[in-house]
Formats: sequence, structure tokens, C-alpha cells
Amino acid sequence: MSGRVIEVRGLRKAYGDVEAVRGIDLQVDRGEVFALLGPNGAGKTTTVEILEGYRDRSGGDVGVLGYDPATRTLELRRRVGIVLQSTGIDVFLTVRETVQQYAGFFPAPRDVDEVIDLVGLSEKRDTRVNKLSGGQQRRLDVAVALAGDPELLFLDEPTTGFDPSARRTAWEIVKSLTAIGKTVFLTTHFMDEAQYLADRVAVIARGSIVAEGSPSTLAGRDRMLARIVFRVGEGAEVPELGQVERPDGDLEIAVSDPTETLHRLTGWALEHGVDFERFEVSRPSLEDVYLEITGVEEEAE
Ligand code: ATP
Repeated sequence: MSGRVIEVRGLRKAYGDVEAVRGIDLQVDRGEVFALLGPNGAGKTTTVEILEGYRDRSGGDVGVLGYDPATRTLELRRRVGIVLQSTGIDVFLTVRETVQQYAGFFPAPRDVDEVIDLVGLSEKRDTRVNKLSGGQQRRLDVAVALAGDPELLFLDEPTTGFDPSARRTAWEIVKSLTAIGKTVFLTTHFMDEAQYLADRVAVIARGSIVAEGSPSTLAGRDRMLARIVFRVGEGAEVPELGQVERPDGDLEIAVSDPTETLHRLTGWALEHGVDFERFEVSRPSLEDVYLEITGVEEEAE
């Protein structure tokens, strides 16, 4: 199946005088991982909870799998997975019993053991929930959301509070979901997470979408200058390649296409037997671009 899974037009939400969401448009296609990024208070949770059917909107059109989530129809709830934070889970049940219990609420659940394997809890299948670590409980939260075999999964800041290795594991779980055709709507504060997982990202700031695109091309990131940063020993006569000296003594060259400059620089070094004490080539990271976009917004405020 292909097509649009989420379609949002002119979505608005006001809490009294606070305009939390100011007329945003969003589209998410089947099989995509879509990430909504933005600083604290930007309107992410408000948007996600409207899509999930937990909050009412003040205006605009919202379609999720062809339904208006405001109607809270059972058919929609059966096809959507929402990761709640261990709320409502009986801590004296085992992992398997827990997933089994949730699977029982759905007409066509996914195989319980397959769900447990998918979230990497196979070895804890018969362990009681109260004996799981925090990270394992979060995996169980994802398992519970997957029990009904949803087409669309909402992950609201799924790795906040995870240690680095648990984050990597969670990322692999999300990757495995897309491999079996699920659509994922993600919010996150971690740019490396968005870079790794998302096919498309949108940045929301003060209730408006300020940039949208793939993580690698967001806001012209792919066209921004590359930076070559290097350092050579005292006395080496570096040829003129447009370098400037930074306060820390490193030399920096900013170019759109670094290939030729790199060739000349390394060619010179080889010819003169010069060793680089430091040598790095980079493009702006998603985080650099994000900070620039949201920083401009905050200054405007
Ligand atoms: P964070 O990254 O901090 O979780 P967020 O992007 O999820 O932030 P929201 O929680 O959607 O932001 O909040 C957007 C704005 O709406 C904020 O100014 C917030 O104070 C306000 N807001 C959110 N929920 C309510 C509510 N129930 N009543 C009144 N104002 C609210």
C-alpha cells in the first residue's frame, strides 16, 4: 500500500491567549520516518497529541489514515500505535504476558513473540516488568504500542534519558519497523537521531514550520560551504588557498567544492614532506543548521 498517511492543513491550536500552533501544513507518506523538531515550547507535543486524538484543535484540517482524529474513532485507534510511558502496565506481569494482554485488545495483532524479538527483549520474555531496567521498560512500551500491528507509530521523544547504547538499540528498533513497512512520526531534541532515522524533517518554532526537507538538504545544508581545518608545524610555508587563521592557531578554508583545494593542499604537503598536526573536512551538521534556523527565530522574538 502506498499513499498519504498524515495530511495536515492550516492546523491551529490556541490555549486561551497562547497560540501554540499557528496554521501548519504537514504531509507524511506511507513507510516514511518523519521527524518534527523544534525548541522547547515550539508546539511539537500539541501537534502530536492532536494527531493522536488526545487534544482538540482550534482550526484546520487533519487526516490520519483518512480519519479525522478528533472523532476518536475505534477504527483509527486500532491502526495507530502510541508509545505511552509505562503507564497502565501491570508490573507483576511478565514481558510476554504484558504484550499478550495488549495484543488481546486488537482484532489482528502481531505475533507476540515476534514483537518481543523486534524490540530486543527475547531474553527477558519471562521476566516480570518490575525487574526490568528503565531502558528495558521503554522497550516494552514500544512492544505494547506494536502489539496491535499498527500501520502508523507515534514516538514522542523516544530516547530521552537513554544511555548511548540504549539509544543505538532504540534506533535499530525504529529501523526494523520501517523495514516491515511501518510509518513513524517522531519528535526529538536530538539532531543525530533525526539525521540517522528520518527520511524527512520539519522544524517548528513558535508554532510555525520554519524549514522542511530531508536531513541532508534541510535549509540548503548541502549547498553550504565545506570547511577544511588544518594545522602544520612552525615554519611551513602554506600556499595561498584562501585560508584564515583561527584564534586557536588552526587554519581554516571555507569552500563550496573542496575537492580541488584538498588536492592542492595535500599535494603541497607531500611535495614538501609536511605532516598535518590536524586535518578535518566537514559540512555543517544538521545541528548547526537547526541552531541557525531556530536561533534566527528566537532573535526575531
Ligand atoms: P517541549 O520540547 O518543551 O516538550 P513542545 O514543542 O512539545 O515543547 P508544547 O508542549 O506543544 O511544546 O507547547 C507549546 C506552547 O503551548 C507552549 O507555550 C506551552 O506553554 C503551551 N501549552 C502547552 N500545553 C498547554 C496547556 N494544556 N494549556 C496551556 N498552554 C499550553
